[in-house]
Amino acid sequence: MTKRPLVLLDVDGVLNPVRRHSLWLRHHECVLDGQTYRILLNARHGRKLAALARHTGAELAWATTWEQHANVEIGPRIGLPQLPVIKVNSDPGSRAGEHFKTRHVAEYVARRPFVWFDDNLAAPDWQYLQDHPGVDEFLLVDVDPRTGLTDAHLAQARAWLADRARPGLDGAGAPSG
Ligand SMILES: [Mg+2]
Repeated sequence: MTKRPLVLLDVDGVLNPVRRHSLWLRHHECVLDGQTYRILLNARHGRKLAALARHTGAELAWATTWEQHANVEIGPRIGLPQLPVIKVNSDPGSRAGEHFKTRHVAEYVARRPFVWFDDNLAAPDWQYLQDHPGVDEFLLVDVDPRTGLTDAHLAQARAWLADRARPGLDGAGAPSG
């Protein structure tokens, strides 16, 4: 049986873009540890992400420095249920230029295929994941923080996950010729 895929969500630069470029984006204020943060959220993102997960059999999870705050301050404002949280806030140090979240993600996924929506990933992250023994297949979706998550990103994820779900295309079951 194939392992259930994951869809990993960043907040800043993905669900909270840098600027308000769409009428769907609304300002919200969050207070964390006495500090007020003004963020932009698109209320339609929750429904679209839930549909992506439902149609592909994937599980959504947070991969953001907001950690558990994402389940309080972000998810409910866009209609997402409580999601698993990958702890990313300790910095284990970089081996070859990978983002500090990348090591935590590599440990968490445990060979499950995953799509990762983030605005801070580059070649060293891809290489780190490629070389990690606990990582199997993955798709890094590079999100422009000026626009955040778009329908094109969601379609890219959906196509990749649909391909993974097709029987006979992985490992020993791959058709020849
Ligand atoms: Mg980010």
